[in-house]
Amino acid sequence: MALERLSERVFRLRAPNPGPMTFSGTNSYLIDAGRDRFVAIDPGPDHQGHALDLALAACDFGATIAAILVTHGHPDHAPGAARLASLTGATVYGHPRSTFAHTATLWDGKDFALDELRLDIIDAPGHAVDHVALYFAEERALFTGDVVVGQGTVVIAPPGGEMATYRGTLELLRERYGEAARIYGGHGPEIDAPRAKLDEYIAHRALRERQVLEGLRAGASTIPNLVERIYAEVDRVLWPAAARQVLAYLEALERQGRVRRTRERQATAAEHALLEIDLSRLGDPVAAEELGATTPIAAVVEYAPT
Ligand SMILES: [Zn+2]
Repeated sequence: MALERLSERVFRLRAPNPGPMTFSGTNSYLIDAGRDRFVAIDPGPDHQGHALDLALAACDFGATIAAILVTHGHPDHAPGAARLASLTGATVYGHPRSTFAHTATLWDGKDFALDELRLDIIDAPGHAVDHVALYFAEERALFTGDVVVGQGTVVIAPPGGEMATYRGTLELLRERYGEAARIYGGHGPEIDAPRAKLDEYIAHRALRERQVLEGLRAGASTIPNLVERIYAEVDRVLWPAAARQVLAYLEALERQGRVRRTRERQATAAEHALLEIDLSRLGDPVAAEELGATTPIAAVVEYAPT
């Protein structure tokens, strides 16, 4: 894939990992830090060709990659860090809660500084517990990883994903960085109207929450019932993903005392089919991790509004 120049100092190289969860692939970014050093954001999956392409892209500018910043530990963003570090000798930076190998930490509220480059580090949990966003004030550019993406919807799936926390992160980004000129997300194209996009994301989450509550009031008491009702127009192959999303809303509502569990029972065959993620159809291991699908679903819980 070809290197795209997005601004004076920001470049994008898309990893060759397209899929239902990654859209056209993971966006790896390079920022020119000045003095012949580049910073890489999200090296992507472990892919030899992609790591080489990133290293060579810097080389073409007579530069080297000195730092690798990872927005979060999901398998489409972080595993490439080790390979790129071994090729370039760059330092790998992760969130304090990141479990992938890293040697330096991205502390919330601190700056990342290298040569002439300065980035704000923002804790951005919700999609993943170890998520950071980065703000490049000089270009008013916000790097959002999978908090905001240029294409498709972000999946918030428990246990790693937490809906109320995610919505808090969206609010915080809108409040602090609503005036940004651009968002560079983990997937899809760049976003030129950040405030409008953040408004849209926040409104979408509020709408889905309302739909979950309305569904419960109308007697759709289980996740499969709610998915059939709310995601009727969505391709069924994505329903297991939608089920994880609905679970995230229900957990948040439960914690707020707006929803309660009334009963737990064995899943029927039809419910099982709806909930079970068919990895052969959904593609890659990214899906399993992003969707929290490593734990199989045996029981169906019935919910009611309080
Ligand atoms: Zn991703």
